[in-house]
Amino acid sequence: MKIYSLTGYLVIFSYLVACMYSAPAQLGPWTGIVMGGAYLIFCWFMGGLYLADVLHLGIAHRSLDYKKWFIKAVTVVNNTFAIYVDPIAWVNRHRLHHKNSDHDGDPNKLSGDGFWRTMYLCVMPYQCIESLTTDKILHSRTFRVAANPIFAIVVQALSFYLLWKLAGSLKFALVMWFGTRIFALWVNMIQNYWTHTRDFGYRRYYDDDDNAMNIGEWLPVTSTFSACLQNNHHHYPGLLRLSHEESEYDFGFLTVKTMKALGLVKATARGETIPEDVPLQALGF
Ligand SMILES: [Zn+2]
Repeated sequence: MKIYSLTGYLVIFSYLVACMYSAPAQLGPWTGIVMGGAYLIFCWFMGGLYLADVLHLGIAHRSLDYKKWFIKAVTVVNNTFAIYVDPIAWVNRHRLHHKNSDHDGDPNKLSGDGFWRTMYLCVMPYQCIESLTTDKILHSRTFRVAANPIFAIVVQALSFYLLWKLAGSLKFALVMWFGTRIFALWVNMIQNYWTHTRDFGYRRYYDDDDNAMNIGEWLPVTSTFSACLQNNHHHYPGLLRLSHEESEYDFGFLTVKTMKALGLVKATARGETIPEDVPLQALGF
């Protein structure tokens, strides 16, 4: 098993064991695991929907056209009840990451940055050198409020209080809260470190002037909603799917197809154009 997958399974296993041992007596260890697992799954799913599907493909690359109310609802629900991420700062950093991938000006990581340095940068990224966020939706009231640090502190404090009351124990609530954020840091490291270091994964497009790699195993693909197919994505950032071959497992695309079936999203012209050298017969969307 690859080191990144092993790390991910260890993080999840340790988290569940910690939930089992920290759950209060009135809940018992098995309810502790179920509750901790449910909180982890909720934060993972909302985070994937918010960052990978909505902010990434819906706003940063304009590959998908979501209903405006849906974008705003996902932004508010994720940032209140799951793990807070400033939407405007995220879109800006992501656009600069594509513009300057692995070079000066990439807020996520420079080519020479190692494992621990990149982990520090997941929390404290490089300063953004320009602003690329003129989109109308990013200037809407919902987004301006969601990007406000006071909003972040208030809603995350309320959400922790709610978790504490549900858990019935401060220790158990703290284990779920920090454990889930450690899992989120691992997800972030898949995207920023393991798929941006040439030692891991594979390349479909060899000549690209960056370190973007594809990682295709089940756990990283599912955890990142397919954002770990970085070499594909950096080569054609506008395409609405990150898998470039039917044999590549693509969990993120399955979630987008489900949202399309529910009438929440449609493709943009940019998103649905398959470039000539992508070995897909049809988009399947
Ligand atoms: Zn991107």
